[in-house]
Amino acid sequence: MAESTSHIKPIVDKFGRIHNYLRISLTERCNLRCFYCMPEEGVALREKSVFMSSEEIIAIAKEFVELGIKKIRLTGGEPLVKKDAAYIIEELGKLPIELAITTNAVNVDKFIDVLKCAQVKSINVSLDSLVADRFNAISRRSYFDRIMSNINLLLENDFEVKVNVVLIKGTNDDEIIDFINWTKKTKINIRFIEFMPFDGNKWEWEKKVSFKELLDKVDEHYGADGFHKIQDAKNDTSRNYQLKNGQGTFGIISSVTNPFCDTCNRIRLTADGKIKNCLFSESESDLLTAYRNNESIEPIIRNSILAKHPERGGNVAFENLTEKAIKNRSMITIGG
Ligand code: SAM
Ligand code: SF4
Repeated sequence: MAESTSHIKPIVDKFGRIHNYLRISLTERCNLRCFYCMPEEGVALREKSVFMSSEEIIAIAKEFVELGIKKIRLTGGEPLVKKDAAYIIEELGKLPIELAITTNAVNVDKFIDVLKCAQVKSINVSLDSLVADRFNAISRRSYFDRIMSNINLLLENDFEVKVNVVLIKGTNDDEIIDFINWTKKTKINIRFIEFMPFDGNKWEWEKKVSFKELLDKVDEHYGADGFHKIQDAKNDTSRNYQLKNGQGTFGIISSVTNPFCDTCNRIRLTADGKIKNCLFSESESDLLTAYRNNESIEPIIRNSILAKHPERGGNVAFENLTEKAIKNRSMITIGG
């Protein structure tokens, strides 16, 4: 167990938000090619040396924990394609933190024991359609059956499973009710995510399904008595609901139309060792070079968070933006 942490000076931004949640992208690589995440031309391959090694990831994570980080989520790219992913999970599992992972679940069966041993409780799985052909078209690969079987494997092993569904008008918005019906008898949390703009992902304002549209659809189908709002956890990015007598829950992450920036406690570390203080921020701070030069990384972390904007990386009026105007990395290189 952790020793007393009362001496720790937390990582705080100019708006008083304490940052105690670190998301580490283990790799930019992925075994799927979801069109909204991966640019069509793919992510340019770079020299191995520009990325954090497993040992560097573990050492840097430990420094963050000393600065008050309480939760680490591994993401990517696909974290479970990183060579040494098992070793990284095992080592981070020894830290006094909550360890979580976001994965496409293609490789989950190979890691189930490692995840259990590291006491990973909550696993977020991306799945944008319950129709095999449609899912395979969105992800440009053919792993639907394997992913469904791995979701069931996680449930059988008592993991808390959250399913992330990126809603895109004309692509999968006709499946909202099918996804919610899954929560009737299964203890699963479905989280609908608004389609967000990133470099090269064909984002258009008209393709996102807003918080309001989604709730209207749910209301129309189940009626006001058929579902209810439930308490959201502190710092939760989703607004959560439950069907009457439902086993699971469903939620809405509306980063575009209804952002959750006021309670943001997140720091993102990219696979090439840069801090991004917001998913929508254009600037980054190079932690890895400083670490390799034996410089202290603490001031870089604190200054990056002090430079954080109050909302959406300073992009306040989303309605006026086009995909071209959003100079940002693709999601796969940021770490979603
Ligand atoms: N490969 C893992 C996975 O798919 O779960 C982890 C990385 S992925 C980048 C993390 C999350 O970002 C996924 O749930 C994915 O659906 C979401 N995501 C990627 N691009 C997005 C976009 N343009 N808008 C909204 N969510 C996006
Ligand atoms: Fe890969 Fe996840 Fe991006 Fe899909 S959303 S391409 S699974 S990183």
